[in-house]
Amino acid sequence: MQGSRGWVRVVSSNRIADTARQHPAALRRLEQQAARDAAQPLAQALTDAQKAATRQWLHATERQALPSPSALDRYITAVKQLLAEAFRGKGKLAADTIRIAAFNSAQTSARQASALAAMMSGTPTPPVRPVIGPEAAATADAVPAAVEDEHQRALALLTTTSVTALGFAGITGVFNRARRAVTRIARHAAVAVTSAAAHAAAAVARAIGPTTRLLWVAEPGACPACGAYAGRSITVDRRFPAALSLNPRRTVFATAPTGPPLHPSCRCWTIPYSPTWPVDGTPLPALLRRAARAERRA
Ligand SMILES: [Zn+2]
Repeated sequence: MQGSRGWVRVVSSNRIADTARQHPAALRRLEQQAARDAAQPLAQALTDAQKAATRQWLHATERQALPSPSALDRYITAVKQLLAEAFRGKGKLAADTIRIAAFNSAQTSARQASALAAMMSGTPTPPVRPVIGPEAAATADAVPAAVEDEHQRALALLTTTSVTALGFAGITGVFNRARRAVTRIARHAAVAVTSAAAHAAAAVARAIGPTTRLLWVAEPGACPACGAYAGRSITVDRRFPAALSLNPRRTVFATAPTGPPLHPSCRCWTIPYSPTWPVDGTPLPALLRRAARAERRA
């Protein structure tokens, strides 16, 4: 009879584990692309602004180490202007790029989670419209303020006193400080991509049914904390236990997570799971746990 175990080909847990453990690499690619795309406009604008600032410095200091006091004030005003132009609109632009990347992540993760659930359960997964979820949205929304914060911190270094004391090195320091905004954009991109993936997988699990669990799939080579969550499962909207770690003396995160990311640059994800699904071989949680522990030793 169709649908019975004798008739339908049952998938092996090895195959599910292998497929599920490949997804973090896809997330990593999405995340790196997002970080580049989101940060590039500001990175380029800061490079151009720094070139202009260097040119103006050379012009103002032709025969001396420092510009004259009045020329120095004019110079500092000009550099502030260059920075303002470089930063203008870049936070918003980066936030938009990160939202798009998060949506791509939600889409591919929902598709992959649906496919895996269908393979395991032997029945098609109800369609789910992927959304990025509140955490990814909040992460993207926080980008303009984070970028502006770095802008202000760079400006705080741009004073008559510091430039008088440090000379051109003071200007270099200001631009180096400003570039931290680029790093922060990249970090937000990473969190948004992974959060969206987890949110999408949870939506798929919820669509399958209220008893469907979410099973933690650690990124191959994950940190000791993430390794300890591998193979753990919860029902949707519950939390995983707090502070698990394969090496509690080194890596512990105190809060009970609803899912990945456990930390910045975590590419773990979760997949829908039910112990009642007819999967062949070693139970999937044990397989995932074993894989995470084996990599830990390697
Ligand atoms: Zn992780």
